[in-house]
Amino acid sequence: MKKADCIFCKIANGEIPSKTLHEDENFRVILDLSPATRGHALILPKEHYDNLYELPEDTAARVMKLAKKMAVVMTEKLQADGFNLVQNNGETAGQTVMHFHMHLIPRYEEDGQHIGWNPGEVTQEELEEIKKKITE
Ligand code: AMP
Ligand code: ZN
Repeated sequence: MKKADCIFCKIANGEIPSKTLHEDENFRVILDLSPATRGHALILPKEHYDNLYELPEDTAARVMKLAKKMAVVMTEKLQADGFNLVQNNGETAGQTVMHFHMHLIPRYEEDGQHIGWNPGEVTQEELEEIKKKITE
């Protein structure tokens, strides 16, 4: 299904032009218009899913396969020094466009970007409690 007022549905299906790096039956890979680094791109499914929770498992598997292929090609062609895959779900997690997408972010020495988190602290008891909550 496509969503009528969704900009990524329109881009993924070619109704709005984009700098496309790859297109197949299920996905379009485009360059991000506000790139974190040179070559920052997005994998967009052609079908609309708000986020990872809604993404069917087979599509999720295809996304990772495509991400791997793109990362290899982009790293080589752009002579990147590293690569981040980033995927945000929900406003709290930084998602601004509510159509599932995977960020492909080539990294360069001294690119000045910081993609990460502030390491926290946790006790063994807290780890045990969290583990139980998730697995039981
Ligand atoms: P997120 O914060 O994970 O939802 O990421 C949304 C990304 O989409 C951001 O990196 C934006 O720069 C990018 N973006 C938003 N609109 C467009 C557009 N029309 N074409 C390309 N990238 C876009
Ligand atoms: Zn959409």
